Amino acid sequence: MNLHQALVAAVGEANVLTGEDAAPYLIDWRKRYAGSARAVVRPASTAQVADVVRACTEAQVPMVPQGGNTGLVGGATPDDSGAAVLISLQRMNRVRSIDIANDTITVEAGCVLQQVQEAANRRGRLFPLSLAAEGSATIGGNLATNAGGVQVLRYGNARDLTLGLEVVLAGGEIWNGLRGLRKDNTGYDLKHLFIGAEGTLGVITAATLKLYPLPAAQMTALAALPSLAAATRLLERARAAAGAALTAFEVMGRIALEHTVETLPALRAPLPLAEPWYALLELSDAEGEQHATAMLERILAAALEDGDIVDAAVARSLAESRALWQLREGIPEAHARRGGNVKHDISLPVSCVAEFVESTNAALRGRFDWIEPIVFGHLGDGNLHYNMGTMAGTPIEVAFDHEKEINTVVNDAVHARGGSISAEHGLGQLKREAITRYKPALELELMRRIKRAIDPLGLMNPGKVL
Ligand SMILES: Cc1cc2nc3c(=O)[nH]c(=O)nc-3n(C[C@H](O)[C@H](O)[C@H](O)COP(=O)(O)OP(=O)(O)OC[C@H]3O[C@@H](n4cnc5c(N)ncnc54)[C@H](O)[C@@H]3O)c2cc1C
Repeated sequence: MNLHQALVAAVGEANVLTGEDAAPYLIDWRKRYAGSARAVVRPASTAQVADVVRACTEAQVPMVPQGGNTGLVGGATPDDSGAAVLISLQRMNRVRSIDIANDTITVEAGCVLQQVQEAANRRGRLFPLSLAAEGSATIGGNLATNAGGVQVLRYGNARDLTLGLEVVLAGGEIWNGLRGLRKDNTGYDLKHLFIGAEGTLGVITAATLKLYPLPAAQMTALAALPSLAAATRLLERARAAAGAALTAFEVMGRIALEHTVETLPALRAPLPLAEPWYALLELSDAEGEQHATAMLERILAAALEDGDIVDAAVARSLAESRALWQLREGIPEAHARRGGNVKHDISLPVSCVAEFVESTNAALRGRFDWIEPIVFGHLGDGNLHYNMGTMAGTPIEVAFDHEKEINTVVNDAVHARGGSISAEHGLGQLKREAITRYKPALELELMRRIKRAIDPLGLMNPGKVL
């Protein structure tokens, strides 16, 4: 039996796609990476994934796992050699079980994030991972990239929300580590190897995830700020006053917002876009709406008095709160429609963020007089999307032509302050080379040793991460 026949035997002819049927899987969300594959296969069960992986291993053919294909670093796109088999997990989309007393949900890797949030919600629970791509991104992709999003401040990232995993290893063995335990000190915690590995160590097929109580109320506000340093002070103030009730603290530069409302006319800013920075705060409250509103208003009033904010709008209904979130979440979509920009997904100690932006903006402007920083992100986690566009009159291609130089200025500045050049999107193809400049050689060598031990033939998503 040749490989094609083995794949058809594993998943059925209708789920081995080639030619035009395979094309949508072979280009990434930003349309910056296009690859090719000998086939796209769509298994519907863990056993089928194992059969596919076994067949590919026997034929010594590389494999590229893919979920919702919303990754931003080219991790789910094969190279252009046409050698690989792309394994799409989208048909593995069952919620296997919910254990209310244990506050856990067990889902297959192809479940779309929003589907998991809704399944938890129907049982009166919260699955708190939340990001703008949640209508398409899958749990497998979320775990493989250790996704962050807007509630990391309170609940942690995908890694923190995971209790157990099921993984198909290179070679086709199935590791069932679907334990729903909050305490288990029985040696190396293997799930953490596969979380954030971007598909380079195995195919995640299912996960057991933590659930939380649904908050009684969620209140959101948008504040206009005179500086990013003022945003940092507002964050500190909100944390001190609200503690764990502060579930999100996002910042947006004025330019990012201006472009967004210009490009997506259905969105409106509830405040004039006159200040350089805006913060979106969300409080989740166990007591109720009145309690949350009073706390939010107290925080904002004190910040106004101290000059840390200039103006604020508190959402008075769920619809108004959604509209505020749409403004924030519309930023990547709006900029993709405007032709994209040079992206950086960086993290720093929160205490360094304002100084970093000020001095790196100045360094970039000193070098490229056409550059326009488009900055937004999860300030509560010290994570900024520090993206570079071009001022009106200069085509964005000019920025892409200088991408390497821009990246070096930004990444060197991040590294000098003890930060990370990939806070939540991963390395994929985009940052695979850059990371060798910043990660200690020994760390990279340990990663290579782990890769060799778990995937000795180097068939799992080659050319990504390492
Ligand atoms: C508009 C927009 C907003 C975003 N906002 C955020 C954000 O706030 N925070 C954030 O962290 N990310 C964000 N992202 C990035 C992206 O949504 C996340 O990285 C997401 O977790 C990827 O999920 P996916 O299913 O689309 O994965 P894919 O893009 O399909 O794959 C991503 C990586 O995971 C691997 N992979 C996928 N499934 C599996 C599996 N089952 N087993 C092993 N490896 C697998 C792939 O090989 C690839 O390396 C955003 C993206 C967009 C387009």
